[in-house]
Amino acid sequence: MTGQRSSFLLERAWVDGAVQSDVLVEIEDGRFTSVTPGGSGGTRLRGLTLPGLANCHSHAFHRALRGRTQRERGTFWTWRDQMYAVAGRLTPDTYFELARATYREMVAAGYTSVGEFHYLHHQPDGTPYDDPNAMGHALIAAAAEAGIRIALLDTCYLSSGFGRPPEGVQVRYTDGDADGWAARLAGLDGLDHPTVIGAAIHSVRAVPRDQVPTVVEAAAGRPLHVHLSEQVAENDACLATYGVTPTQLLHDAGALGPRTTVVHATHLTGADITHLGTTRTRACFCPTTERDLGDGIGPGRALELAGAVLTLGSDSHAVIDPFEEMRALELDERLATQQRGHWTAAELLAAGTAHESLGFDDAGTIAVGQRADLVTLSTESTRTAGAGDDEATAVFAATAADVTHVVVDGRVVATSDDHEDIGRELAIAIGKVHA
Ligand SMILES: [Zn+2]
Repeated sequence: MTGQRSSFLLERAWVDGAVQSDVLVEIEDGRFTSVTPGGSGGTRLRGLTLPGLANCHSHAFHRALRGRTQRERGTFWTWRDQMYAVAGRLTPDTYFELARATYREMVAAGYTSVGEFHYLHHQPDGTPYDDPNAMGHALIAAAAEAGIRIALLDTCYLSSGFGRPPEGVQVRYTDGDADGWAARLAGLDGLDHPTVIGAAIHSVRAVPRDQVPTVVEAAAGRPLHVHLSEQVAENDACLATYGVTPTQLLHDAGALGPRTTVVHATHLTGADITHLGTTRTRACFCPTTERDLGDGIGPGRALELAGAVLTLGSDSHAVIDPFEEMRALELDERLATQQRGHWTAAELLAAGTAHESLGFDDAGTIAVGQRADLVTLSTESTRTAGAGDDEATAVFAATAADVTHVVVDGRVVATSDDHEDIGRELAIAIGKVHA
């Protein structure tokens, strides 16, 4: 796309840590070449424009469960049974269609990058596809068509639980051992697409301790993600098996650090928080999912004070709304502490734009040289009218439905005119999965 230029005049925009007026942004080859408050010219975007929002934790196929798993009583584990039933049915073709529709919903909601935590690798009987990365390639192609930037976090998943082999649909997830996983991962490199190939440890349940160092080694130079302490039962089983918490296990294996993102980090000890903080590990909270699954409320502020960096994700997609995730960080902390005012709107916006968790270190601000992502909100909707037009409006009043215009890498990828079409596409793709 050499030489592609465009320019927008942003009525109000979050630039340099403040909302400024009439910001002229010029874009060339997908990056900002100038950002000028008080400017003129360019295509005018009314409302409040934010940097692109980052969805740091996604399982695209879980979108097929929305409104279904919530119908009955149950636990995290009964939810997982229903999720596995969908996982058992998907093919590269149906997964492509479902992921494309889900990513279109995401991008229309204001997410410009997604971290896809991907473990559904093989055929239903566990045999690799002819292309052993057929599923990963389907996800990358789906993201490309939807216009969202993807970091494929290819996930190592080897055991059903501590010391238990994969069972049922889990045979689709496993590569036998960490060496097998690393060999398949290497096959994903060298793609001609603005894609990051990252690595993931599903959890300390699913990767035995002696296999973790192999994953850490293969993840060198890549983002490394891992589900951590979402459920108390996982902590208890880890303590019973190894005598340490999951965080301690990862710390001992050299898995923590600034390129690592631990997902959920809900049930932590004081020592766990210290380890995550001193290593500057990122912690991805997924509040709408953690709420839906009854996981609990993680110690967000304590992690941040210890030195960890908070990021956000929509995970199971019970909700796809980055504004809801941002404010939930503050509002859930209020419920947990019975006190208000833990995070400023600017801090919540920083958590919502943490693209570096996905290896996109040059996204997340409207500044010269950065990837040109823009998310414009209406400040005149039934939700935002009268709420002002600054960052607090975005974080505490807006919803995904207020997003009117989305630019990713300089390209317009969604407008409010697309909502009906995306709804139709989701209904068809999800209908096929449940047929
Ligand atoms: Zn997850």
